[in-house]
Amino acid sequence: MSIQGQMYIGGEAVTGTNGEIRGFDPVSDASLEPAFGLATRDDADLACQLAADAFGPYRQISGAKRASFLRQIADNIMALGDELIERGTLETGLPAARLQGERMRTVNQLKLFADVIEDGNWQDLRIDTAMPDREPLPRPHLGVRKVPLGPVVVFGSSNFPLAFSVAGGDTASALAAGCPVIVKGHSSHPGVSELVASCVVDAVKSCGLHPGTFSLIFGSGREIGQHLVSHPAVKAVGFTGSQSGGTALMEQAQQREEPIPVYAEMSSINPVVLLPKALSSQPQQIGEQFYGSLMMGAGQFCTNPGLVIAIEGSGLNTFKDTVAAQMSGSSAGPMLSPSIFQSYCENKTILTDNDQTVLISQGQAEGNNACEPAFVEVSASNFLSDKGLHREVFGSFSMLVTCSSEDEVIQVINALEGQLTGTIHYSDDDSESFVRQLISALELKVGRILFNGFPTGVEVSTAMVHGGPYPATSNSQTTSVGTLAIERFVRPVSYQNVPEKFLPPELQTDNPLTVARQVDGKK
Ligand code: NAP
Repeated sequence: MSIQGQMYIGGEAVTGTNGEIRGFDPVSDASLEPAFGLATRDDADLACQLAADAFGPYRQISGAKRASFLRQIADNIMALGDELIERGTLETGLPAARLQGERMRTVNQLKLFADVIEDGNWQDLRIDTAMPDREPLPRPHLGVRKVPLGPVVVFGSSNFPLAFSVAGGDTASALAAGCPVIVKGHSSHPGVSELVASCVVDAVKSCGLHPGTFSLIFGSGREIGQHLVSHPAVKAVGFTGSQSGGTALMEQAQQREEPIPVYAEMSSINPVVLLPKALSSQPQQIGEQFYGSLMMGAGQFCTNPGLVIAIEGSGLNTFKDTVAAQMSGSSAGPMLSPSIFQSYCENKTILTDNDQTVLISQGQAEGNNACEPAFVEVSASNFLSDKGLHREVFGSFSMLVTCSSEDEVIQVINALEGQLTGTIHYSDDDSESFVRQLISALELKVGRILFNGFPTGVEVSTAMVHGGPYPATSNSQTTSVGTLAIERFVRPVSYQNVPEKFLPPELQTDNPLTVARQVDGKK
């Protein structure tokens, strides 16, 4: 299909009339055709009203039918072929191979959620059978299942134009849960957004669903994004992006007559602890792997290893020399957009200009909007005394915090804000008791603890947590990646002494759907 510069509202292609945006090629530093018309508040209201209309029928359809809808979206995305990858490369500066990988992840994510809802076990169904003779009071019959919240607004993210955007993880998990979705498209990849939205709209049609099940809206976050979040029909929000944007939406959602949950994934510097024996046994190898993780995608990952914590020693010196040798003279490539590039330069300058930091190495910027990577060092005492040094620099930037003792390492971790990940590089010769202390400290700060690797690369699976305490996310009780993400868009309803014929099938005594259930505390 050719890109028309259109949104989709309730299945209809619509050209917005409230101004326009264009895609932008950060490599050639040039605007792209066509123009995309932006939504009016009336357009946004219509999408919300249609989503509310769609919610009734959509939440009633079977898990099997929702699963085939998700699989159809996946097939439609693959059928776009090279056009999607070519447009994505133009709009983001990301290499084709990276976008092909991201497309595979997006499609597999949709299929994974299809499997989850078809299987039905995610519901964690529980039944407590009646005990009419219990003393001193009889126990009622109770059954609990999960029901969808209602229409969800999803804010696509700039750094994953496929996997965290129009048909990305938030959309897939909300649709899987039974919630219609309205996507506020990210202005940095409108062409990709339109292409993927067409796949969802076609799947809505071919599966015979209500057209309000999905809409894509273009517009400014502050105007149209906040208007969508304030609409009474909207019952939850999924967001990936900046801390300022996520926090503004959290406030907006709390000010509504009916406050709603906002699941925002925002800011993280992902501490990596290098233990002394691990470091002294293979300092070069760890240095090379760290460098690879830091430079990947110009560091534009929420899991970028932005903070390294280590105890002084010769292993650390070799590690630093290795990173410096690799970084000097190298370029991390173009960033996603001029605004992200500008924000990288500003934040990096704040940290490199700080009197307490020392530059270990700096790369080169080649071409338009190119990230000039940097690695700086600071002592633990200075890091602990200046919270300004804890800021996220979104891009290939990292800070080494040099500690004089194990205690200081723990103090540094305890001083951090909430993070998505915490990494430990360990060898069998390192102190086990210290590792236990580290794990215990990290458990209070992060959503994922990993050993002897780097945090970039997030598996989409059943045991993944891509979350963490604020400001990593707005809600540390859940995840935005992996099958547990569906929990964000449902709530439990308990049915007490409801006659058998009125019970939902999954709670009926003869279990007609043959789903796993816990009955009287036994699986
Ligand atoms: P962003 O500026 O937060 O934008 C994300 C989305 O939220 C956009 O659709 C934007 O609308 C909207 N938005 C922003 N501020 C808003 C507000 N106050 N009210 C309502 N909606 C708002 O994020 P970005 O453009 O993707 O990147 C900017 C910065 O975010 C980066 O430099 C980086 O620091 C951070 N970031 C973090 C992650 C992460 O995973 N942790 C990922 C990407 C970016 P508009 O279209 O109007 O801009």
